[in-house]
Amino acid sequence: MTETTRRQIMSAAATLGAAAAMASPSSAQDVAAARGGKQDPRTKYPKPPFTVQSQPWPGLASRMEPRPDHGETSYVGSGRLRGRKALITGGDSGMGRAAAIAFAREGADVAINYLPEEEPDAREVVDLIRRAGQKAAPIPGDIRSEAFCQQLVQQAVSALGGLDIVVCNAGRQQSVPSILDLTTEEFDRTMKTNLYAPFWIIKAAVPHLEPGSAIIGTTSEQAYDPSPDLYAYAQTKAATMNYIKSLAKQLGSKGIRVNGVAPGPIWTPLQISGGAQPGKVVTFGATAPLGRPGQPAELAGIYVRLAEDDGSYTTGNIYGAGGGQGQP
Ligand code: NAD
Ligand code: MG
Repeated sequence: MTETTRRQIMSAAATLGAAAAMASPSSAQDVAAARGGKQDPRTKYPKPPFTVQSQPWPGLASRMEPRPDHGETSYVGSGRLRGRKALITGGDSGMGRAAAIAFAREGADVAINYLPEEEPDAREVVDLIRRAGQKAAPIPGDIRSEAFCQQLVQQAVSALGGLDIVVCNAGRQQSVPSILDLTTEEFDRTMKTNLYAPFWIIKAAVPHLEPGSAIIGTTSEQAYDPSPDLYAYAQTKAATMNYIKSLAKQLGSKGIRVNGVAPGPIWTPLQISGGAQPGKVVTFGATAPLGRPGQPAELAGIYVRLAEDDGSYTTGNIYGAGGGQGQP
């Protein structure tokens, strides 16, 4: 048996194993979707009202009610990223976890970065990556430090034996209704996490990226339509959209593609650990034409699309998943 065939079999077995270990598909609809069937997007996932809940920053997906869906039981890979080596920041939960699961099931080895207090979420992701038959490298640490960002890239390169996908997804979002209450410390923390860290990480990663590599940034509908209470956060997402376009022009000549994902309201720990006003969680996602928030699993395929070779002419582009609101 070739190594590729062995990996494919392990990956398929892991998908089934993980499906059994985590929640089993809740309805025939879920099973149909996992096999390419058709589902009503309005009723596919939980809709408001949600129970009021809050956690201290950065929050754990495992303690959310209902638990977010990152594709644990549903994502089925088909070798679209076979042999690739990916680093994902914020890979423990939310969009980062959905990308990590999908990348592994598509055949990539995956390094994830997260904060030390997110270890319980990260352990679940490491387990899911390994069940997919792929190498997992958990690298906890605070990306607000340039020295750590450099170390993070070096550790990912040595653990995986190279690097060709970098997903700058970690983010800081705190709702502060008035600029008069926004402290310099909070403003700085948001800038460091959302803008300085991708700068430091990408700068450290580029020397390792061969032609065919991909960089993906997570921006937001906030880049285009900022909320009044997200003054600091929203401008970092506008800047993210902008650095993606600038870098795509700069790195095109090296054969490195750079793209972004712009989510709408998605059910993740960021929202219930200060990202939104506590009362807002009850109606979270209600304004979207689909009548509910999105789940991280609904964006997994976008990250795969932007990383895989099939997307070879896609660079400097932002892909949205906004439930009918926001841009692009
Ligand atoms: P999440 O809480 O699951 O992920 C955010 C991650 O950022 C955390 O898991 C944490 O590991 C990481 N992080 C934050 N500060 C860090 C630091 N100093 N050092 C290291 N890691 C740090 O929430 P999410 O919603 O999946 O967020 C992922 C991305 O999606 C973020 O960039 C966020 O801005 C963006 N986004 C989210 C939404 C939404 O509605 N949830 C909408 C648009 C964009
Ligand atoms: Mg997290």
